[in-house]
Amino acid sequence: MSSSYPAYLELFQSGELARRAEKAIGSLADCTGCARQCHANRLADDSPNSFCRTGRYALVSSSFPHHGEETCLRGTHGSGTIFFSHCNLRCVFCQNFDISWQGQGRPVGPDRLAAMMLGLEEHGCHNINFVTPSHVVPQILEALCLAVEGGLCSPIVYNTGSYDSLETLRLLVTNGTVDR
Ligand code: SF4
Repeated sequence: MSSSYPAYLELFQSGELARRAEKAIGSLADCTGCARQCHANRLADDSPNSFCRTGRYALVSSSFPHHGEETCLRGTHGSGTIFFSHCNLRCVFCQNFDISWQGQGRPVGPDRLAAMMLGLEEHGCHNINFVTPSHVVPQILEALCLAVEGGLCSPIVYNTGSYDSLETLRLLVTNGTVDR
């Protein structure tokens, strides 16, 4: 049972969060980060070979207090949504075609991504809500280390389309492992 809340604080304090972030960033060189298993070298921004068309840095379409999420997430001050561009699913019926297929958004490094999290928390959002995060988990972990250093302590919502790999999910669990 974790004594810290949110539980990622304990991972940060033990150094495990930084270790996972480093491992995950390194894995971008031969990316099998989701069920697509592309083996693209994303560190070299070899995005033409990656289904998700995302290289070393995540692209973010928008970051804002979302008052249209489910009631339990939005509360009174909104859910602190960070909307990632591109997608490892790209459903033909996607309502966010300009973001998921066309990649509307801009690249953000770990400092900027961490600042987005902290800004949403400062605004009073009840959580940090990563939308379409499956292809950018390494970048999220890298930025989360910086955000926690900056004082982040909000719960995190992993708002996934669920086309994740077990290895990636293992990077996210705080207690135990994901069962096969
Ligand atoms: S995260 Fe992107 S590059 Fe990596 S396996 Fe999935 S779709 Fe391919």
